[in-house]
Amino acid sequence: MGFCPSMLTVSRRGKYVLALLLCLSALAWIATYKWDTARASHGHPVTLRIPVKGDGSQVDLRQERVSPEVVSSGRMPKALCPESSPLLYGALKLSFEPSLTLKEVANENSVVAEGQYQPPECTARQSVAILVPQRSREKHLLYLLHHLHPFLQRQQLHYTIYVIQQAGDATFNRAKLLNVGYLEAQKDHDWDCFIFHDVDLVPENDNNLYMCDSQPKHMVVGRNATGYKLRYKGYFGGVTALTKDQFKRVNGFPNTYWGWGGEDDDLRIRVELQGMKIVRPPSKVARYTMVFHKRDSGNKVNNDRMRLLGRTPKVWQKDGLNSCSYKTLSVERQPLYVNITADIGTPPRH
Ligand code: BGC
Repeated sequence: MGFCPSMLTVSRRGKYVLALLLCLSALAWIATYKWDTARASHGHPVTLRIPVKGDGSQVDLRQERVSPEVVSSGRMPKALCPESSPLLYGALKLSFEPSLTLKEVANENSVVAEGQYQPPECTARQSVAILVPQRSREKHLLYLLHHLHPFLQRQQLHYTIYVIQQAGDATFNRAKLLNVGYLEAQKDHDWDCFIFHDVDLVPENDNNLYMCDSQPKHMVVGRNATGYKLRYKGYFGGVTALTKDQFKRVNGFPNTYWGWGGEDDDLRIRVELQGMKIVRPPSKVARYTMVFHKRDSGNKVNNDRMRLLGRTPKVWQKDGLNSCSYKTLSVERQPLYVNITADIGTPPRH
């Protein structure tokens, strides 16, 4: 009950009324406070954010329970980031300074910790894992990190960059490393969207959104090395964006492509077999600069790729995420990325 000041000595009627009103407001305030507290302690649903799920369904409001600790700490959820980020520049001027160091890039990105960033100003529309397979391409990785971190921050995304390194010197297997990245990244967070990213491709326009769509998305319409033209109609290489569910539906990438080529065409076949349709951003924005390099000695052209592609409709359910065997040798949480080193085995001997 509320406390009412003693009114015994007051004689005038107006004062009685005023005191009564004060008492009533105090009681009303106490009652409201108690109701709010009870609501919070029962985890009353509060809308936190609108994640985009790419399973074909439209964006849905997700109700999440806010814990009493969050309510009492005053850290109530931030508003959802705008559909179109006000921080975007459009076409960018890229630089590839030979003297650039990892330390400089880390200093420029003090807001990034262990490869992860959350926009401080709003709740990101999607949580995105960027997966970059590589081996002995440290300089390319440095240029990519230098451009990609501020690019993703301007897009107001919650993201982490994962680099997946193939241990040993067996022939490179990009697709299997990407399966490993997908499986390992999920141990950290329930990511909405996965970007499968070549280490030597740097995006030229920040309107090329690193977010997933209701259909699998191919981000590289053009690159400098090929006159900014799509390489061929079904080209699905370089950088692609699939939701967690889209990638699961196609059983991920095949594990059986050792060496250069074919694995991206295989993913396209898997997507088509599921009746999904590849979407692309406008050619004006889906542009990349390819950082020059010679073919790696450990990544020779896979001359078996046409035969493998021919059997994809028969084997995709057996060869993929569900058969990806590997050993994680280390997970190092560096300032700008999570570095996963995996032993993914060796190609079969014929
Ligand atoms: C290969 C793909 C490659 C494409 C473009 C195709 O022949 O199979 O893996 O992405 O060429 O270079």
